[in-house]
Amino acid sequence: MIRFKSRVLGVMVVSVAATTLLLLLFGSTLRLPPAPANMSFLRVPLRALNDFQQQQQRQQQQQQHPNAFSSSANAQESCTSGGAQRVEGLPPLYIITPTYPRAEQIPEITRTAQTLLNVANVVWLVSEDAPAPTPALTSYLNESSLNTVYLRAQMPAKYMKAKNKPRGVANRLAGLNWVRANAKEGVLYFADDDNTYDLRIFEQMRWTKKVSMFPVGLVTKLGVSTPIVRLGKVVGFYDGWIANRKFPVDMAGFAVSVPFLLTRPNATMPFTVGYEEDGFIKSLGITSADIEPLAFNCTKIWVWHTQTKKNTAAVPIAQNNITMGTNLDVIKGLLWKDPKGTATTTTKKKETKKKKS
Ligand code: UDP
Ligand code: MN
Repeated sequence: MIRFKSRVLGVMVVSVAATTLLLLLFGSTLRLPPAPANMSFLRVPLRALNDFQQQQQRQQQQQQHPNAFSSSANAQESCTSGGAQRVEGLPPLYIITPTYPRAEQIPEITRTAQTLLNVANVVWLVSEDAPAPTPALTSYLNESSLNTVYLRAQMPAKYMKAKNKPRGVANRLAGLNWVRANAKEGVLYFADDDNTYDLRIFEQMRWTKKVSMFPVGLVTKLGVSTPIVRLGKVVGFYDGWIANRKFPVDMAGFAVSVPFLLTRPNATMPFTVGYEEDGFIKSLGITSADIEPLAFNCTKIWVWHTQTKKNTAAVPIAQNNITMGTNLDVIKGLLWKDPKGTATTTTKKKETKKKKS
């Protein structure tokens, strides 16, 4: 009996010792990682969790090396995570976006890029009206996973001084020339950088045979510019500024088939303010009967002529012992600087204007 008891005791002692040894050896690997604060551990997808952990690591590194501010992009900071989709057999969309340097340029380009990231087979032609490439824009495009082409064409000097300028024409024409030289199939669309696009319009315009048209919201006091469609046919146009135009439509209200465009080598956009769309569509040599109404016979508004509030250039960041050696050293490089003058002078001008009125 005593012998039996001591044998049981011996077995127990050995197993406790073995368990302790195992825990000592592998205990650290068995421990679960702590659930990140404010995050439901189970609901977070693995990628988001990795991102979170990497972000925490970066924050720790930053705390250990507080002066090491880096503005260089790494995988985490790449501006368009996710990816441009390529779907075999879908006609490509050649999207021409005219843009120009100003405080809103990068925000507008960000919005447009992230819309297009959700559209398959896009070639995004970003055409800048500027005396030299804007570094913030070209690096944004380089870091993007979209299929982008950067072009640059300035508004001719003779139009620059005019009160009403033909905005975005020279750079749209550069995009048009690129399409003529490089594309054979698919569809061309002019997408200004400041509009809002519903993804469904891209899927419908992809099948344009000649010229398709669709409503654009927030145009003139009518609130919309659209073809008038009766029994599936375009019978007229509803637009707040008809002005003797044959095709009174907005720049974002039509798309053109590339093979069809290539049969019209002389088609071009005029530098005539207000008549850019009309002039271009007329030069394609179509009739109203050729127009393909999209967005369910133009009953949906899937493009909006959003106009962004203009912002002045930022006031320069003061250089003193509160700001220097901090993140503001990097932030100051991200702020828009007007090459024509500083924010202070623009603000001053505005203030005197206000006082006068
Ligand atoms: N744009 C340009 N150069 C300019 C002004 C505008 O390339 O000097 C671009 C702008 O980024 C936009 C398009 O042309 O994509 C139309 O300009 P804006 O939005 O100012 O005109 P609106 O829509 O009010 O007619
Ligand atoms: Mn606009």
